[in-house]
Amino acid sequence: MSGERQRQTVAASVSQRADNAEGQRGRAGGARARIRRHAERARDAQAAEAILRAGRVAHVAFSDGSGQPYVLPFTYAYEDGCLYLHGARASRTVRLLRAGTPVCVEVTLLDGLVASRAAKSHSMNYRSVVVFGTADAVADEAVKRAIFERMTARYFPDRRAGRDYTPARAGELRAVELLAVRVEELSAKVRSGPPLGPHDAEDEAVGSRFVVLLPGVDV
Ligand SMILES: Cc1cc2nc3c(=O)[nH]c(=O)nc-3n(C[C@H](O)[C@H](O)[C@H](O)COP(=O)(O)OP(=O)(O)OC[C@H]3O[C@@H](n4cnc5c(N)ncnc54)[C@H](O)[C@@H]3O)c2cc1C
Repeated sequence: MSGERQRQTVAASVSQRADNAEGQRGRAGGARARIRRHAERARDAQAAEAILRAGRVAHVAFSDGSGQPYVLPFTYAYEDGCLYLHGARASRTVRLLRAGTPVCVEVTLLDGLVASRAAKSHSMNYRSVVVFGTADAVADEAVKRAIFERMTARYFPDRRAGRDYTPARAGELRAVELLAVRVEELSAKVRSGPPLGPHDAEDEAVGSRFVVLLPGVDV
């Protein structure tokens, strides 16, 4: 099966439950995903997708129904409106998400530490995304294998199954659950630039101001 065909198959297989009201890929700025503080830092869905494709660590948040929220870090891949997570079938996160528990995922790239002349104006430059959705397990073995191999290639761009590492055996694939989180809503927020304290633009003012560049560090 070609890569494009496999992607379409996954998208079709996960779309039934998770399609949003508009029947389209996750939209930015819905009720849950409206940025209130510094709304001018909000970015559109395209920018959000670019951040998701660049990030490496997803913070996956859910509740087990007791009212206690949990958040755990995961590796992930983002393709065509789906965020893919994986883990042991017995993992609590996997069990709850597979059962349809709503999930919220956050990815942040930290671009800089921003020092201001004023205490209250110290800040950070970042690109971050919050995703809301629900997950379905990817059952098709060929589709699952292809997604895992693309996920590996995302972290290790030059490595290929069969050339640089032994492909997963069928039993190994079955032992791991691959979840496709269909993005229902998402938001992106970006801060960039210098400190914005009341005296940060004045060269002669008291104190110092600077930005420490941390290009795209995952946090
Ligand atoms: C960068 C990164 C990437 C990861 N990628 C994956 C992945 O792709 N798939 C995967 O299955 N796991 C991944 N992990 C591990 C993952 O975060 C969990 O530890 C694991 O999935 C679930 O473990 P558990 O079943 O013991 O957790 P649970 O039973 O769900 O957790 C029980 C408690 O253990 C503690 N706990 C669990 N995990 C962590 C943690 N990472 N750090 C601190 N406390 C924790 C928390 O207090 C949690 O409430 C990753 C971890 C990191 C740091």
